[in-house]
Amino acid sequence: MATKNGGKRAKFIFVVGGVMSGVGKGITVSSIGRILQSRGLTVTALKIDPYINVDAGTMNPTEHGEVFVLSDGYETDQDMGNYERFMGLHLDRGNYMTTGLVYKSVIDRERNLEYGGQCVQVVPHIPREVIARIKAASKKAEADVTIIEIGGTVGEYENILFLEAIRMMKIEHPEDVLTVIVSYVPTPSTVGEMKTKPTQHAVRTLNGTGVQPDFIIARAEHVLDEKRKEKMATFCNVRKEDVISAPDIESIYDVPLNFEKDKLSDLIIKKLGLRAKARTIGEWQKLVTRAKAATKPVRIAVVGKYFSSGDYVLSDVYISVLEAIKHASFAAGRHPEITWLGSEAYEKNPAKVKELAGFDGVLIPGGFGSRGIEGKITAIRYCREHKIPYFGLCYGMQLLVVEYARNVLGLRGANTLEIDPKSKHLVIDIMPEQKEKLKKKDYGGSMRLGGYTAVLAKKTIAAAAYGTPEVVERHRHRYEVNPEYVDRLSAGGLVFSATSPDGILMEIAELPVSKHPFFLGTQFHPEFQSSLASPHPLFLAFIKAAVKRGK
Ligand code: GLN
Repeated sequence: MATKNGGKRAKFIFVVGGVMSGVGKGITVSSIGRILQSRGLTVTALKIDPYINVDAGTMNPTEHGEVFVLSDGYETDQDMGNYERFMGLHLDRGNYMTTGLVYKSVIDRERNLEYGGQCVQVVPHIPREVIARIKAASKKAEADVTIIEIGGTVGEYENILFLEAIRMMKIEHPEDVLTVIVSYVPTPSTVGEMKTKPTQHAVRTLNGTGVQPDFIIARAEHVLDEKRKEKMATFCNVRKEDVISAPDIESIYDVPLNFEKDKLSDLIIKKLGLRAKARTIGEWQKLVTRAKAATKPVRIAVVGKYFSSGDYVLSDVYISVLEAIKHASFAAGRHPEITWLGSEAYEKNPAKVKELAGFDGVLIPGGFGSRGIEGKITAIRYCREHKIPYFGLCYGMQLLVVEYARNVLGLRGANTLEIDPKSKHLVIDIMPEQKEKLKKKDYGGSMRLGGYTAVLAKKTIAAAAYGTPEVVERHRHRYEVNPEYVDRLSAGGLVFSATSPDGILMEIAELPVSKHPFFLGTQFHPEFQSSLASPHPLFLAFIKAAVKRGK
């Protein structure tokens, strides 16, 4: 029987990967969502990660990329950020699952005797649990179309049970389920020709699980020519028009427009038997055009530590920060030139910090642990003393407070509990209730996670930027500004321009514009709520200050 959402028949699109990962499944999901929205359809999305980790909170960012925090506090994969940014959605824990989570809920239910004495088996109980979760998310969003991304690539043992879920759903609702394979079509330099064979193999492997793709998104360096399209159609058992060319492009925001060049939304709508309005991708086109028109640079340094893996720079760790800088820069009519600087260099050679003078703005993002911390404090001091716009996110705000306490208030050895539990001046400390949790080794529960309200103080940079008396912003941290030092810091000139509604937790610290063009830190992560269509107000204020300096 068809699944209904508020009287409408629910449709599902699965997106799987072929050949190799990292070629843009997440952006494909986000872009398919975006083009379907531009046809007036209600869309939601889910990500399935084939890990045993129950959520992404315990994964090392250099291995897995950014941990994206949803407003309900759930710690998920960076793809969720792309979904939210492209589709303007507010997703929650129902939109994310891992192998660990799925097994855990099945096992918990078995222990609660909820299977009525059945033998609980990997098949069908695990895929059934997956399907139930997909349908629940679809229902909650009252979605016309639910797009589900399966992490990794076909042919990995890890995601077999998720592919089995596609097969089972397709049998149940043949006309309501589509499968899209995002595959890589290489052009080996020694051959000089685009090769479709790896994709043919990937499709065969997918066929082996009982699933036939409806569309092939051919990721390649170049546009796919007719001959390659024909070849793929023949050998992969799809129609030629269902092979969509997805060449490398300058900006991820071009992808929806590119898909529409191959009329992807029409093809999907037809196959799913949906009724939709005429295309209105114009809004998106305008945003992309504005971004492209911004050619004058604004030079931003991001000072951090999770940048390198072997010989490679990993900007994925800060993908939301990077995107938020882009969104604000485009809105300010500038092209961001972002430079990643490792803070440890300033510890070995403090004079190197002078390089920051060559930038229009400096940003220090979130982080954990002690590596590179003194270097970051050196950088913050330099920005404060040389009036370089500085924006600190989470750890970047805590260290702003440490720097101010040490160098302006003269509190020697001031620090955060995370670095120096013996410090005489713990200006960043842990709250009593968090302490209790840590004692019990309840590390997962020891962080402040997700959306919390902050009340803004009038006549501050923050209040002017937001233009509202209250905001809800997302958190992910264990430590807070120590309430015992708030009076001293304030008397010393630091302005706490936002606090929790009870006034106990400090949410934003800043210097007044009379003292510094932009010196501001947020205890929360504003980067999680920025998008091309609606850049974050604080990022915008930071970039505007940076543009001013650049002049
Ligand atoms: N390590 C700091 C804390 O736990 C900051 C965390 C962050 O930047 N996300 O409070």
